[in-house]
Formats: sequence, structure tokens, C-alpha cells
Amino acid sequence: MTWFGGSRHWWAVGLIGALLAAITEPLMAALLKPLLDRGFNRGQLALWIVPAAVLLLFAVRGIAQFISQYALSRIANEGMQRLRRVLFERLLAAELALFSRQSASALSNTVVYEVQTGSMLLVQALLGLSRDGFTLIALLAYLVYLNWKLTLIVAFLVPSISWIMKVFSKRLYRLTQQGQQATDELAYVVEENVLAHRMVRLHGAEAAQGERFEQLSRRLNRLAVKSTIAQAATTPLTQMMAALALSVVVMIALWQSGEQGLTVGGFVAYITAMLMLIAPIRRLADMAAPITRGLAALERGLVLIDDVAPEPQGSFAIEHAQGRIELRGVKVSYRGDDEARALDGVNLTIEPGQVVAFVGPSGSGKTTLVNLLPRFVLPSGGQVLLDGHDTSEWELKSLRAQFAMVSQDVVMLNDTLAANVALGAGIDRERVQQCIAAANLSSHVESLPQGIDTVLGHNATQLSGGQRQRLAIARALYKNAPILLLDEATSALDTESERLVQDALQRLMQNRTTLIVAHRLSTIQHADRIIVMEQGRIAEQGSHEQLMALDGLYARLQTLAVRSATPGQDPTL
Ligand code: ADP
Ligand code: MG
Repeated sequence: MTWFGGSRHWWAVGLIGALLAAITEPLMAALLKPLLDRGFNRGQLALWIVPAAVLLLFAVRGIAQFISQYALSRIANEGMQRLRRVLFERLLAAELALFSRQSASALSNTVVYEVQTGSMLLVQALLGLSRDGFTLIALLAYLVYLNWKLTLIVAFLVPSISWIMKVFSKRLYRLTQQGQQATDELAYVVEENVLAHRMVRLHGAEAAQGERFEQLSRRLNRLAVKSTIAQAATTPLTQMMAALALSVVVMIALWQSGEQGLTVGGFVAYITAMLMLIAPIRRLADMAAPITRGLAALERGLVLIDDVAPEPQGSFAIEHAQGRIELRGVKVSYRGDDEARALDGVNLTIEPGQVVAFVGPSGSGKTTLVNLLPRFVLPSGGQVLLDGHDTSEWELKSLRAQFAMVSQDVVMLNDTLAANVALGAGIDRERVQQCIAAANLSSHVESLPQGIDTVLGHNATQLSGGQRQRLAIARALYKNAPILLLDEATSALDTESERLVQDALQRLMQNRTTLIVAHRLSTIQHADRIIVMEQGRIAEQGSHEQLMALDGLYARLQTLAVRSATPGQDPTL
């Protein structure tokens, strides 16, 4: 896995450490040889040598294991971090469809937790694999060195014994299966005869059915006997096999002791090393499960890397657009079918500096239209142009730099007030203060003990609706983009907050092309043009007076709004 590459010297350190630790294992067994052969014969071996060697070996093993584990975990952690980083970058650039396909919690779960779980499982497997693999090799090497003839025979004996055991247990399994099947058949015969008891009697079939039952039950009996034999034989057979293997080893050892000088110590060391093989073999055999699970956990993350396309974009880029917007026969359908279109053939031109208001019943496509411009929504037909260039030809970074947006749901990041205002740009404290002042937020910010350095917390829940709205306006002011998109920026506010927000908005709209989706009349009356939307189409457009004179949808919405308005509040649309 390339994510775990990179730091080559740590790989070397980790593997050498594991190798060193593994080498100490046969050395422990090897210690028995001098201990038994000479240690217990007084005078042939200094008293301290074996105890000192034991301590030394454990010290070396401990240190080597520590270093190896440290190095390999380090590699794994760095790999995980890189993987996460790449995943997050993909997330930031992913086509927007991803976010409607997958939930926020699923995505964050993948990027943070699944990558972690997967890496941890793989790290454990890697550690085990290196430790037990090397130990196995070291022990085998020692066995070969100690007595290669015996090792050859053992190497032949062990697999043949395990093969015999496997054949045996397979047969047992098959017998159990067949027994189960025969029992089912027997039960079926009884069931059939209960259901068909009249037919059986009418045709005098009792004897035949009895015979049928008898045969089946005899077969079941035979299977049961076989199965019992197989079961009862397993334990003694296993023990016999082990005894056979041991006898062979002992016989050869005894024969060698006469002929080639195999000592007691050598024999015990040999048997010990052989028994030490069992544990690593068992652990290695169990390693497949965590590796599979680890890979499965990482897979979702890797899918995110491989299958998620980045947002498509062009290459046209200018720093400051003039702000001429044109929609030509624009259609949008979210579900990809042509039946329910959110926009259905909208033609529209907005000249630089114009303020255009959009009104209409909810669901008529106003938000969709606004979201088309920064390509948060892609048209399924027609063209959206900015300064004469189709938005698909624009480089996304440059295109999105042309818009500031204030909508009903303001999103704040868990960062300082200043960082939220300057979002994406460098923090110029002076300008942050100016923008906050222009957004009518100074008095509130001054009341905070840490001023613009106050951390807002998770989505700034301690701010009121109006304060959040004004903070979003300060953010838009700071961005100083040529085109302003206001989507129901004031609809959720009470009258008092609205006055402050409205005032700030007026300042924000100066010298900018503005598209404003509004509920309230006061904002709309400043507009150069009002566009009335209905079911994804433009139903009417013109000035307030022209539209009232037309006496169509706009006039109807207007009367509705005036009737439902509470005293002291602006009528709402
Ligand atoms: P408005 O802002 O005028 O209330 P919208 O542009 O939000 O209207 O919605 C227009 C239509 O598109 C509605 O029928 C709405 O249900 C549908 N719509 C909006 N956003 C989505 C979306 N993300 N997925 C599917 N349908 C949507
Ligand atoms: Mg809307």
C-alpha cells in the first residue's frame, strides 16, 4: 500500500528490530544445551554464565521489540495521516452530487474513523506478521542447524499428520451432514403419512410405507454408527499420531546419540525449539481475519479516492468581473427526469450594477436560480453566462471569487470571529473591524471580552439570528465581490434585528450587481426590476408599479401579504 511507503529508514529499523527480537527466541532454547550438558556437571561452566545470558537475551529482545513496534507504528501513523489528508482534499474538491448522495456523518465517519480502524488493524497485522514470521524462520533455522536430518524428518512428519487429521475431520463433518439429511427425510415420511393418512388406508399402502420408514431409519442408524466411530477415534488417533511423531524423534535422537554424539542438552534444546514453533504458527494462521477486516474498513475510504470525480471546470479566469449575467433557456432538474423541473426555460439578462429582486411562492425555483451562478447547481439545459462566458468555461476558483452570498441559513466555522469574517482570505484586522462596523455588529463585538478573537464555537450557536445574519454580511463585505446573492437573508428575523440587517445590507449592495430573493416589500422596492417566479418559470417582471398595474400573480401575492402582516411590521411576500 503506497500510503505506508515513504519513510524507508523507519521500515529498515522496524524490520531489523523484529528480526533481532526473533533471533533471541532460538537462542533461549539454545541456552538449555550448555546448561544441561555442562552446567549441572560441577566445574565445567561458571555459575553466572547462563543466568547472565538469560538476562541479556531478555534485555535485547525487549529493546528490539520496543524499537520495532515504535518504528512500524510510526510508519503506519504517517501513512494514515497522509491517507486522511488526501481524502479530505478529495472531499474539498468533490463534485457536489457527493454531498447529496452521502450524509455528512457517513463522510466524516469514513475520513476519520474508518481510516483509523483500518490502519490500526493492519498495523497490528503487520507487527504480528513481522514478529511471528521472523520467529518462525529463526526457530526453523536453529532446528536445521542443530540437527538437519531430524528436522527434515519432522518437516515431513508434521504436515502428513496434519493432513491425516484434516481428512479425518472432513469425513466427520460429512457424516454429520448426511445424518442431518437422513433425519430430515425420516421426518418427512412421517409428515407425509400424517397428511395423507386417508389415501394410505384407502389404497392399503400401510405395509409399503412401513417398509419405506424402516429402510430410512436403518440408513440413519448406519450413519450414526459411523459417526460415533469417527468421533470416538479422533482423540486416541490424535494422541497416537503425536506419540508416533515423538517416538520417531526420540528414536532418531537416541540413534544419533550413539553415532553422532547428540547430547541430552542438545536433545532438550531441540524439543524445546520445536514446541516453541507452535505459538507463532497458530498466531499466523489467525492473521487472515484482521487483515481482511482492516482492508474492508479502508476500502470505503479508497472508494472515495477512486470513484469521486472532482468538480468539472474550465480555464477562463479574471480577477474582477463586470457582473453581466445572462441566462439562456436554462433548465434544471434535480432528479434527472424531465417531469419535475426546478427551472423550466428561464431567459434573463442582468446588467452590471443592477439590483434585481426575485419573488414567488416557495418551491418556484428562486434558490435554484441563485445557486446556478456559482455552479452549486448545474443546468441540465441552456446556458448560464457571466461577462459573456459560459460559467462552465470559468475556472471555479475565479468564478466563485465573483460572488458574495448571504442566505437564510448562515454557516459559521468553529473558529475566531475574525477568521470567520475573513474566511479564505488573510486576516486584516483593520478591515475586519471596518466590515463589522458596516454590518452594525460593532457594539456586540465590543461587548465580547476577546473581541474579534472570540472563538464562535460549533456553528456559532451563541449568536442570535440577527447577529449571525450581520456576521454573514460582514463576511460578504470583507470579500468585496462584484456580485451579491441574497437569498431570503432577512426572512427569519424579528423587526428590530431586521432594521439593523436591512441597514447593513444597503451598505453591502452599493456598487454591486445584486440578485435578491426577498420576502419583504421594503427590500424589493429598491430593486431596478422585480421578477416573479412560478413553477420554475418567469411569470411576470417589471417595476413594483408596473406589476401592480398588471394585476397578476404579483398583485395577488401582495394583497395576501398585506392582509397577513402584523401591525408595525413590513408586509411580507
Ligand atoms: P424556492 O427557493 O423558490 O423556494 P427552490 O429553488 O428551493 O425554490 O426549489 C425549486 C424546486 O426544486 C422545488 O420543487 C424543490 O423541491 C426542488 N429542489 C430544490 N432543491 C433540491 C434538491 N437539492 N434536490 C431535489 N430537489 C430540490
Ligand atoms: Mg429558497
